[in-house]
Amino acid sequence: MLPTQQRFEQSLSENVPLAPMTTLGIGGPARYFADVTTTDALIAGVEWSRRRRTPLFVFGGGSNIVFADEGFHGLVLQVSIRGVETRFDEDGVVVTAGAGEDWESLVAQCVANNWSGFECLSGIPGRVGATPIQNVGAYGQETSETLKSVEALDLAGGSLVTLSASDCEFGYRTSRFKTRDRDRFVITRVTYRLAADGKPAVRYAELQRYLADRGLETPTLTDVREAVLAIRRRKAMVIDPSDVDSRSVGSFFVNPTIAIDEFERLKRHIQEQTEGDADIVAFPLSDGRVKLSAAWLIERAGIKRGYSHGRVGTSTKHALAIVNRGGGTAREIVELKELIAARVLDRFGIVLTPEPVFIGM
Ligand SMILES: Cc1cc2nc3c(=O)[nH]c(=O)nc-3n(C[C@H](O)[C@H](O)[C@H](O)COP(=O)(O)OP(=O)(O)OC[C@H]3O[C@@H](n4cnc5c(N)ncnc54)[C@H](O)[C@@H]3O)c2cc1C
Repeated sequence: MLPTQQRFEQSLSENVPLAPMTTLGIGGPARYFADVTTTDALIAGVEWSRRRRTPLFVFGGGSNIVFADEGFHGLVLQVSIRGVETRFDEDGVVVTAGAGEDWESLVAQCVANNWSGFECLSGIPGRVGATPIQNVGAYGQETSETLKSVEALDLAGGSLVTLSASDCEFGYRTSRFKTRDRDRFVITRVTYRLAADGKPAVRYAELQRYLADRGLETPTLTDVREAVLAIRRRKAMVIDPSDVDSRSVGSFFVNPTIAIDEFERLKRHIQEQTEGDADIVAFPLSDGRVKLSAAWLIERAGIKRGYSHGRVGTSTKHALAIVNRGGGTAREIVELKELIAARVLDRFGIVLTPEPVFIGM
């Protein structure tokens, strides 16, 4: 046996509880588990699962996953490839980070260096390797704006490939990694291009208001990062072990986008039902569609903040987050997800799409 395969087998553990590795704190054991810190170890793990015909699942920080109560009956690989390299060229700073790097630490480091492009993505848990999967975004900024390329192991061909930003087929909270090529690529490194001029992106109305209220007319990158963190903390959208409302996967549903004529119909429908007293929250998009607030739809469908379903419920600070209040199960999470989606469909005719991935169920 080759030394890397031997080393991989030595690093394998059996029946490892997955719940502690997730921000939701839910899920049964992995039949086999390994933490891989090099590309060679990753390739050895993939080979091992192939030879044994064992299903494979790869993950990073566990902040966007609901593992089944029964766990996963295959090999779970946690991608912990580290390392950050930076270089300057005529267009700015090029940052390449290992998939296992902590996202929030990378953001903090880039903001401290006065490199712009990540500042609004402060406070998001998880690792670098997951940022392209759903084109992580917040407060008016998205991964796709700065991502230059992705290095990945292509499980279809067995080789390491480099994908450009356009190869990734990014959309709002989606990419080819979440759609037509789900489970095909294991991301090993991500390269981003940042601007060295330090100008922050202040596009999101709530962020603009927060900064204006504090008299910050020309905010620095650090001002914007701190503002984003403060706004997120008010919604329990920054992980805080002492706050049960942050024991979540963040937003549980993607904000739905609909065509403008569908939006006009929806507005009329809501106005009829509320005798004109409708304050529907919606944002026009550049492609002519309209983005609706999933949190607004959920609350108006009768599921308020702090709603309980067994040992899980909605956050007391944000109706869009489903939280584990302690001892919750994946089954309860799925039941509540279905209840919320059914209420919104019934009330507004809008289909809500969940944001996290569901594994083993
Ligand atoms: C409190 C809180 C706030 C959040 N706020 C936001 C937010 O503002 N915006 C936002 O977009 N998201 C948000 N999220 C969701 C989540 O943090 C992000 O989606 C994050 O990028 C997930 O990273 P992770 O490493 O934890 O991924 P995981 O949860 O481990 O995995 C998520 C998915 O990515 C895949 N994956 C992970 N690593 C790799 C890899 N190396 N190669 C291939 N596939 C991989 C997994 O298979 C899985 O399908 C929030 C979550 C929480 C708990």
